[in-house]
Amino acid sequence: MLEQLKDLHAQALEELSKVDNPQELEAWRIRYLGKKSSLIRILRSVGSLPLDERQSIGAKANEVKRALESSLEEKGRSLQEALLTSHRESQRLDVTLPGRPLPIGRLHPTTQTLNEICDVFKNMGFQVIEGPDVEWDYYNFEALNIPQHHPARDMFATLWIDAGMGGKARLLRTHTSPMQIRLMEKERPPIRAIVPGRVYRYEATDATHESMFYQVEGLAVDKNITMADLKGTLFEFCRCIFGEDRKVRFRCDYFPFVEPGVEVAIECSACAGAGCRLCGYSGWIEILGAGMVHPDVLARVDIDPRIYSGFAFGMGVERIPMLRYGIDDIRLFYSNDLRFLRQF
Ligand SMILES: [Zn+2]
Repeated sequence: MLEQLKDLHAQALEELSKVDNPQELEAWRIRYLGKKSSLIRILRSVGSLPLDERQSIGAKANEVKRALESSLEEKGRSLQEALLTSHRESQRLDVTLPGRPLPIGRLHPTTQTLNEICDVFKNMGFQVIEGPDVEWDYYNFEALNIPQHHPARDMFATLWIDAGMGGKARLLRTHTSPMQIRLMEKERPPIRAIVPGRVYRYEATDATHESMFYQVEGLAVDKNITMADLKGTLFEFCRCIFGEDRKVRFRCDYFPFVEPGVEVAIECSACAGAGCRLCGYSGWIEILGAGMVHPDVLARVDIDPRIYSGFAFGMGVERIPMLRYGIDDIRLFYSNDLRFLRQF
């Protein structure tokens, strides 16, 4: 029986060495130390053995039981540790991995251009102000020398909110010029301001027409302001935006709220003045309208035109990046196609 116990011990230890998870360990415990295991059965039968064998067998069986119990405990600990280590390994942060790049937003090409235009005029001492998109007929037309039934109203395809109410009718502003009036009603000269903002037209859209686009309006009113100030300011603007060497042309034009009115054009960049499809074979590209503020407009806001004079200008904003990057369709700006917008 002593031999049997020794074999049992050796066999148990050998099997234990192959155990590598808690479930197998529990099965091993039941097999060798459970109530129905051969070791426990031997221990129970010790009492019925002859006296001389009882002591030696009993001692040996107890010794094997204690040895197996301590091996079990040790194995349990080492399994636990292995489990923890592998868990730690799998959860470990590798701080040397490069980070995941976050998508970065960018400014819309129109916003970039607006910022650029505003910077140029801020450097010349103009303040930047904004006005309402929903405007009264009075500010959009009447106060700018465009009374009811004036043919110049045909220049603007207007989106009306309520029509047929004279100066009290509301509309979506067709240009940023109404802010000239609002500004002069509130402030006395000297005034130097630009007004960036959205304007609206009731028009079918195509490559060169959008129902909403951006304008920047400019206004300067003071004593002794002349056409030379207008030319100097706009020349400087064209040089800053289109480059030092670009030729700039002033020609007569008509807008009801200025007298005289001018149209400013720059030399076509595509053909350097030779004439091409982009410039309509003229060699020049119109970029803004301007003029000296009409005396009637000044008088309407109680600024005496015998003492004060001023100049005003207005330009389309999208036209600048269109010329600069060769964009041939204005609708691309507001169709929210990221493939287009990401290029700027
Ligand atoms: Zn050209």
